[in-house]
Amino acid sequence: MNLFNFIKGRVSIVDVVSEYATLKKAGLYLKGVCPFHHEKTPSFTVSPHKEIFYCFGCHSGGDVIAFIAKAEQCTQLEAAQHLVERYQLTLPEELLKYDHDAQAVRNDDRKRYWQLCQLVALWCHEQLKKNTQPRNYLEKRKFNQVTIEHFKLGYFPNSPQALKELIELIRQHHFFVQDLIQANIVSENKGHYFSPFADRIIFPIKDAMGRYSAFGGRIYRPDDERPKYYNSKENPYFNKGSFLFGFDAAKKQIQQQNAVFLVEGYLDCLAMVQHQFVNTVATLGTACTTEQLKLLSRYAQQVYVLYDGDQAGKQAMLRFTQLCWHVNLELAIVELPTGEDPDSFLQKGGNLTDLVTQASDIFVFFIDSTAKGFANKTLHEKMEVIRELLEIIAKIDDPLKKDILLQQVAKRCDIPFTVLVNECNRHSPQTATIKLQEQVPSPPATQVLKEVPLLEKKLFSVIINNMNLLKNEDEEYLIEYTSPPIRDLLLKLRTTKDEYETIDFSLFFEQLSPDEKVLMSQLLLECYEYEGPENLDYLLSQFQKKNWKSFVTDTKIKLNRAKQENNVQSIQKILTQFQELKQKLVSRGLI
Ligand SMILES: [Zn+2]
Repeated sequence: MNLFNFIKGRVSIVDVVSEYATLKKAGLYLKGVCPFHHEKTPSFTVSPHKEIFYCFGCHSGGDVIAFIAKAEQCTQLEAAQHLVERYQLTLPEELLKYDHDAQAVRNDDRKRYWQLCQLVALWCHEQLKKNTQPRNYLEKRKFNQVTIEHFKLGYFPNSPQALKELIELIRQHHFFVQDLIQANIVSENKGHYFSPFADRIIFPIKDAMGRYSAFGGRIYRPDDERPKYYNSKENPYFNKGSFLFGFDAAKKQIQQQNAVFLVEGYLDCLAMVQHQFVNTVATLGTACTTEQLKLLSRYAQQVYVLYDGDQAGKQAMLRFTQLCWHVNLELAIVELPTGEDPDSFLQKGGNLTDLVTQASDIFVFFIDSTAKGFANKTLHEKMEVIRELLEIIAKIDDPLKKDILLQQVAKRCDIPFTVLVNECNRHSPQTATIKLQEQVPSPPATQVLKEVPLLEKKLFSVIINNMNLLKNEDEEYLIEYTSPPIRDLLLKLRTTKDEYETIDFSLFFEQLSPDEKVLMSQLLLECYEYEGPENLDYLLSQFQKKNWKSFVTDTKIKLNRAKQENNVQSIQKILTQFQELKQKLVSRGLI
């Protein structure tokens, strides 16, 4: 047994997948809308007894570990680690002794980092309860207790005594000051310890799986002249461009509503959630990245961007037109009144729902903003504007959307539509096609499987479901006559059988490469109605009937060769095989 088998034996794929997708029973299987690509008709299938999944839309597939690796965009080992933590599995000593993966999972430094961050976060949360000034500040900003608890807001006191307490606390959990320094929570100067977070309100930042990973600290005293925010520095476990504040708590809602609100700051996020816009996340004081949008695209199709209603906010929103090619998302801009941010707007009692219904598509917003005051621009400026607009619109894959937007530009700028279409076509049509190809990658495994005749797939499915029923001579025959992907799997099955005394599906599955695992999941979920042992004989005969002509030709060649070599034993064997198969097929009226 290895780590992966150990996990799979204790974690149900249905439980795990259900955290990401809603599954409904469909015969022996479960089906749901795929969490990895956008679709309306469910093509995501899970087999509870084989513990595998396959999506007929985006062709992802594999076991529970492959599922987590894909869902959380991590390696197989990280996925294993996640499952061990999530389901609180205790790894047996035996496994830890011999399995490198198991050792890595147990001794992972990241785990200690997360643990340390959690200790600090919860300690700061306690400190907030004891310190009235920062609490009053939050109260003045109208954040209630529920919100403070929801985000586990905290306060980092500015006293040597408090720092001593924190150091004492972490020591009890076998951490040292050095760990705090390494995590950039504490700094040292000539033997004195201090924290860059001191006297700041603390916003703990969790990763997508809810592990405390970093902190944001905000000043709250009006006379505090330090920068408004101090964020944890990036480290191997924390990278600003891939984290979203509030994501772990919001992800279920984001998935359910198929929509997410994206704001710029911690306080905006707090205000949104407090006002029941629970599917809200915030970037961490930096511009939104493709990585963040990709993360969101796995959970929702619609993103509402709510940035400050000032010039900088507008500029930031325009940047999204450059980002959204890379992701399968619909972006809409919610425009706030000038001078407002989501927090100030909501706390004043503004009606955000109205603004959301009036949200404009990112491209419409882009045209409106870029072409503003077009009539009064100089010729040179006008040409610049048109060029800028066409460059973006030319990249859009959907021809209908392209047309609609060009019509809008035509109207806004008073230029004939046909002129714009011609100009647009001249603008980098190649880049558009390249982008299109990037978006629809065809996994090699699926490509390969397309070429395989259905009969072979069915036959293979029965064999995998009844591994011990297959006779050696039939196996030989199949290895000779099936197409490459099936043949490779059968060869692997034979080696596995030789290697182990008893063999079952999960043991065999573990021997496969990641690509083969996807292939296997697809095969099995595509042909699940042929699982029963009673089908083996029937499908095998059908396959033999189909290949009868080649078999006859091959037999002749083999026979000739054996005769030349004067190999009597071989001649006898070839003849017997031929006679037996012929008899079988004739008796069934197949030839
Ligand atoms: Zn899919």
